[in-house]
Amino acid sequence: MHFRFALALAAMLFAAPAMAQDGSDQDEPRWSFAIHGGAGTILRENMSAEQEAQYRAALDAALSAGEDILQGGGSAMDAVTAAITLMEDDPKFNAGRGAVFTWDGTIEHDAALMDGRDRAAGAITGTSTVRHPILLAQEVMREGRHVFLSGAGAETFADDTALERVPNAWFATDARRQSLERMKAEALSSIDVDLKFGTVGAVALDMEGNLAAGTSTGGMTGKRWGRIGDAPVIGAGTYADNRSCAVSATGWGEFFIRVGVAQEICTEIRYLRVAEQVDCPGVREEGVFRECWGPLHLATDEAQLIADEVLAEVEELGGDGGVILVTPDGDAIFSFNTPGMYRARSTSEGVREIAIYGEGE
Ligand code: ASP
Repeated sequence: MHFRFALALAAMLFAAPAMAQDGSDQDEPRWSFAIHGGAGTILRENMSAEQEAQYRAALDAALSAGEDILQGGGSAMDAVTAAITLMEDDPKFNAGRGAVFTWDGTIEHDAALMDGRDRAAGAITGTSTVRHPILLAQEVMREGRHVFLSGAGAETFADDTALERVPNAWFATDARRQSLERMKAEALSSIDVDLKFGTVGAVALDMEGNLAAGTSTGGMTGKRWGRIGDAPVIGAGTYADNRSCAVSATGWGEFFIRVGVAQEICTEIRYLRVAEQVDCPGVREEGVFRECWGPLHLATDEAQLIADEVLAEVEELGGDGGVILVTPDGDAIFSFNTPGMYRARSTSEGVREIAIYGEGE
């Protein structure tokens, strides 16, 4: 950790000025957007051409929903919720409709949303009747008194909103039910039975320079005892701060919570952006990083390195998964240590990519 920070700092102090993903002028207003639909053992040989086309179309639709908003000057927050609500309704993903089953045969959702302007955040866990859990997280954030609501309390809170409610059975799909049955019959773990994580997430930078992140999931098949994954835990699966980055994660939630993945990535990026400004009085005289952040630019590969190294920590502890992030510099980055991750990204500088498998797919 310290080694990579020192390395990157040295590179920054002694190398040429940082360039973004495209190498273009940094001072033009720009936007960037990235989404994921889960990471895991996603291999070409296990996927029919038709299935692959369906996933690509779903990712394309969610990407387009967000990029239309950002291109039109809309907010990062609106782009994130537009993409996630689409994926929550899509039974291919483990969120909203099509989410995994709990041990007791119900479906319980987790979701979180964070605004990089002031780090306002809303999160919910264990809800079972709210059609769009990400919108309930948004209501929690807007209401503002609390950050994280759970179970029955979150349902009662939802009663006071105009959000659409559905019976729990509305979320159920045969494929997810079969996974639970197999898990029980063959005494498998959720990792064995799921093979991949289907959580959905989105991160955005808008032309005002604001960042937002959101994540929505059913968690892991057969979860019990009120198990909560990383997705709704602010700092673990979801984080956004205009000074550094916006992150959404997918993977083996217990490890992402232990590493504090999303906030760890953003904090390292923030320190690196500050460190570039060596004359900053906050750093020199008071040691207060916060005062010194400014219009500093990180190179794409520096942000990528930080994300990769934090994911390597997850792996060292025995976990796996992936993240998407955007930075104030306009980069949209993927990092994962699983064979594949459903993912897509788009930027004002012409990057547009939809991908499923690992490198060189
Ligand atoms: N991270 C989620 C969890 O642990 C699972 C996923 O990414 O699909 O609940």
